[in-house]
Amino acid sequence: MTHSAKALVLHCIDFRFIHEIVHFLKSLKLLDQYDDVSVAGAAKNLADPYDAADKEFVLRQIEIAKKLHGIEQVIVINHLDCGAYGKGTFANVQEERERHLKDLKNAKRIIEQRFDGLMVTPVLARIDERGKVDFEKVA
Ligand SMILES: [Zn+2]
Repeated sequence: MTHSAKALVLHCIDFRFIHEIVHFLKSLKLLDQYDDVSVAGAAKNLADPYDAADKEFVLRQIEIAKKLHGIEQVIVINHLDCGAYGKGTFANVQEERERHLKDLKNAKRIIEQRFDGLMVTPVLARIDERGKVDFEKVA
């Protein structure tokens, strides 16, 4: 086994999604071939960080993954009902969705500007009442 990875996956710490994220990545044929970065709010740390250091922390993880493992892709997974965005922040699901799409788009731009040649795939996940998780590639 070569010491390389195809991708880095940036996702939220939320435990409800971890198992499903692994299944999603397996469906993309990335199982055992990605570096994993788990940070509350995922794309928010790039697009609208709580602290500027959070943005640099995430970018540094990507830099290390690129240097050490030669990653070619970054998958950024945000999810609806994310506590990092604050409970009751949004008037409705449409507003919430639009905010996530905006942050994912900005995160993609920030990564692409910093790292030449990295492909960025933004994904929005949602969980239903029965705990079923759906992943949508949004760009
Ligand atoms: Zn979250």
